[in-house]
Amino acid sequence: MIANCSLLTCGVDDERSFERTDYEAAQARWCPGCGDHSVLTSMQKLLVSEQLKPERTVFVSGIGCSSRFPHYMKTYGFHGLHGRALPVATGLKLHRPDLDVFVVMGDGDCCSIGAAHWIHAIRYNLKMVVLLLDNNIYALTKKQTSPTTRQGLTSNTQPHGSYLPALNPLTVTLGVTNASFVAQTAEWSPPHLEATLRAAFKHPGLAFVRVLQRCPVYMPEQFTDAVTDRTLVELLVHKDGVEVPQLAPVYKAQRAHDPSDLHAARRLAEEEHPMRLGVFFRDPSKPRYEETRHRPMHTAQEKIALLDKELDRYAV
Ligand code: SF4
Repeated sequence: MIANCSLLTCGVDDERSFERTDYEAAQARWCPGCGDHSVLTSMQKLLVSEQLKPERTVFVSGIGCSSRFPHYMKTYGFHGLHGRALPVATGLKLHRPDLDVFVVMGDGDCCSIGAAHWIHAIRYNLKMVVLLLDNNIYALTKKQTSPTTRQGLTSNTQPHGSYLPALNPLTVTLGVTNASFVAQTAEWSPPHLEATLRAAFKHPGLAFVRVLQRCPVYMPEQFTDAVTDRTLVELLVHKDGVEVPQLAPVYKAQRAHDPSDLHAARRLAEEEHPMRLGVFFRDPSKPRYEETRHRPMHTAQEKIALLDKELDRYAV
């Protein structure tokens, strides 16, 4: 990266161009074969294609394996507390709307201790990209049942099998008032992952992307079927969603789904089989908190009229 402080501070457009190495920080310390590596690579490629300025880009995370993400990006970053990535990102975006904000959470982080923040962040709909890297387990704490662990799977905390049916992050998000972008992709399909990240970044509000992510250490079997048998996966395709023509020969099951149809999105997200990848819902017209809170409720004339009316109450 060519750093030129005078250009950064004087307001003159700089002519820097960025390559992937400009976004690479520390060597990623995830296990070999961890799906997080693929997400990191795809994210760095997105930043190159969008030529995002490192000093105006921020990655925020909570706690978990995937939450080490900010350490591996040569941008600004905030590695926060468990489940608290979204409040940090919300405060940041409200005070610095000029920044590009990305949030990276795991399933334990987002769907358990951070669940209340998740719901309200979706409703606030601030412009940011929110990634849920879902490996269906607490991996950092060495295989503890998470909200998305499938029923019956044995773990260190529920050795006789997970008691409850798994929470579905897509249907939860689609059920939140004012949700504006909900997608699902998989780290083992980089073309689909990259196209989904790009669509999420272009979205004007909060883009929630669930990334199905393999953990070969604690969940070695979890997504093996879908990885090896592509007939088990169905791509949702639409011009307003994600279309990846090069995947057509690979994933033959494709469904045209208009992402403006919320009811269809909920129906498709509810079905466990086939595994669906694509944009379930997208509505760029949904109100964003950063806009609505700055919008004056009354014009100057209306304020004067209201004041007159109030003063008239005291007229004698
Ligand atoms: Fe990835 Fe699992 Fe290793 Fe964590 S424990 S870094 S999720 S492979």
